[in-house]
Amino acid sequence: MRKIAFLLYFSLVFQAAWPQSGTSYVVLVSFDGFRYDYVEKYDLENFNQLIIEGTAAEKMIPSFPSKTFPNHYSIVTGLYPGNHGLVDNTFYDSISNETYKISNRDMVRNSFYYGGMPLWQLVQENGMKSASYFWVGSETAVAGSYPDHFKYYDESVGDQERINAVINWLRLPEEDRPHFISLYFSFIDHVTHAHGPDAPESEKALRYADQLLGELKKQIESLDLPVTLIIVSDHGMYPMILDKEYYIDLSGIKDIAENQAKIVNNGSHMHIYCDGEVKQRILKQLENKEDHFRTYLRENTPDRWHYNGNYRIGDILLVAEPGFSFSFNPNDNKHYGAHGYDPYTTPEMGAIFYAWGPRIKKNKKIPAFENIHVYPLIAHILGIETPAIDGSVRVLQDIVVE
Ligand code: AMP
Ligand code: ZN
Ligand code: ZN
Repeated sequence: MRKIAFLLYFSLVFQAAWPQSGTSYVVLVSFDGFRYDYVEKYDLENFNQLIIEGTAAEKMIPSFPSKTFPNHYSIVTGLYPGNHGLVDNTFYDSISNETYKISNRDMVRNSFYYGGMPLWQLVQENGMKSASYFWVGSETAVAGSYPDHFKYYDESVGDQERINAVINWLRLPEEDRPHFISLYFSFIDHVTHAHGPDAPESEKALRYADQLLGELKKQIESLDLPVTLIIVSDHGMYPMILDKEYYIDLSGIKDIAENQAKIVNNGSHMHIYCDGEVKQRILKQLENKEDHFRTYLRENTPDRWHYNGNYRIGDILLVAEPGFSFSFNPNDNKHYGAHGYDPYTTPEMGAIFYAWGPRIKKNKKIPAFENIHVYPLIAHILGIETPAIDGSVRVLQDIVVE
């Protein structure tokens, strides 16, 4: 009898300490372009409350390049862009002989471009359901399957409608209820590009994001389910001055390279695909012209970027100084905010990470960390093993209530 009581006690304690898969839910939310300092800068009430009740990072460091597609996909694969294959918002692929563009729906939905084991599929492999109300890679059958519920990206869908759908997924009967749900909002990126991070329009957008967070949190609280809410962004935003001086005019290079190289411009950086004698010639020319930008051979990019082993990265990579932008026509491309710069040396590229829920420690502050570590945290909360990835569970494990 005593033995049974002991076993019962032991199993209860063991269960409490090591929740088995199937006992937790994670909702991962991204506000595109939400800079690490906005909550303090604009004193956002619901974010402040969530931070008191949960864990907040000083900032989350985006992967290089600090653009939307590479970073959203790093968050859900635990891999650096150089390793998951979505190396940029726009890049050339020499196997498909196509230039991948985020505006091309067919390419965005083509699994050829997406590597790794995204969280939706990892969760499914572990016998649980997954869902997405938008996220890079979620409308693609990576590793052979789609999320159980997903939506084709459509910017015009109202923000409240997105939140309602997430709550309805959590209200499904237990056997159908997704354990991992992603949710995405783009409006902060749009407004801060158009007006700059310090503009009144941007402040208004952030107050609106704060309302949405309050609404989402309130709805989740009403469910009485063990839901962990993780709020992230992909990158921050650099305030730009709209002056021709800040545009790096490379029209001369375009003329030289025409027909001998492929050039893909991402504004903050540029990929040039070429080889042999042409590569050496273009490299020399660019090195002589270096002014507010740096020229790298792919194999010589800084180690911290983990950006030298993928054939989709330009053979030559040009990276602009923060505040500068590459252009073939300085009259185009006018933005008061920009991103894409080196996330390790440009504080303004810093993103957010806030976590909240019964599995997350309260009123805890953690130092800056790289976004590849979010994936193993989510897997850990859901009680599942990760495949081989760049991120490590050790970085965020300490914020979890075991
Ligand atoms: P950028 O600021 O250029 O790095 O990219 C942000 C853009 O990506 C925004 O205009 C979004 O509307 C767009 N975007 C975000 N997620 C997706 C998606 N899943 N499919 C297509 N476009 C997206
Ligand atoms: Zn973005
Ligand atoms: Zn953007």
